[in-house]
Amino acid sequence: MTPETTTVAVDETFLSLQGEGLEVGRAHLFLRLGGCPLRCTYCDTPRSWSPTETRSISELEAELDGLLAKANLQRSDLMLSVTGGEPLQQTDFLCAWLPTWGGPVLLETAGILAAELQRVLPFVQLLSLDWKLPSEIRQGQELLQPAECLMAARHSGVAVQIKLVVTETTTALELEDVLHQVEHLAPHSSVFLQPVTPFGAGPKPPTGQQLVDWSVAFARFNLDLRVLPQMHPVLGIR
Ligand code: SF4
Repeated sequence: MTPETTTVAVDETFLSLQGEGLEVGRAHLFLRLGGCPLRCTYCDTPRSWSPTETRSISELEAELDGLLAKANLQRSDLMLSVTGGEPLQQTDFLCAWLPTWGGPVLLETAGILAAELQRVLPFVQLLSLDWKLPSEIRQGQELLQPAECLMAARHSGVAVQIKLVVTETTTALELEDVLHQVEHLAPHSSVFLQPVTPFGAGPKPPTGQQLVDWSVAFARFNLDLRVLPQMHPVLGIR
């Protein structure tokens, strides 16, 4: 046992509704881990960039089980959404802990650290791959490995959804390039175009008509392509 396998940097834990992707609208137990090397223009959780709090395994389980107990639920009743930050920065911990959790797991990643992803996939039921457009990254572009992450998911057989956050400055060319890669690597994939939720001085979303135009133009791809805004801001929840 090393400190990396027995302690974890945590930003927050809470019960809420999943606001994105295939699981949208379902109650989930959220575990937001601390620490992220990227700096997306639209990041809505900048406080998670630098972790401030750590938990031991027993402290983390007590916290999560406490949330479930208050709702009279067991671990198997809800999907555990492991998000960030970037969870793959703490793969040693996840590989040591997730096999003992006992409930379904959704792992969200920004599409970096593909080798780390490969290690943790056996303990995950659904991978949410946030395929970052390089134009929306202020720092850490060189870390992006979305295609490698998608390949790792394909090889492991784990279900995968791809999220593409789009803004008013996103171009059809960069979207087309990503969709082409996804279709080539993993045809029939579920791909969500997610208009950015405005945060602070960050970018604004594309117009509704722009989303329609892209959806029509890219319907030729052999993908399950959908537009889906984040639902938790609409509902006023975390
Ligand atoms: S990957 Fe997520 S946490 Fe990291 S900067 Fe981007 S939006 Fe923020």
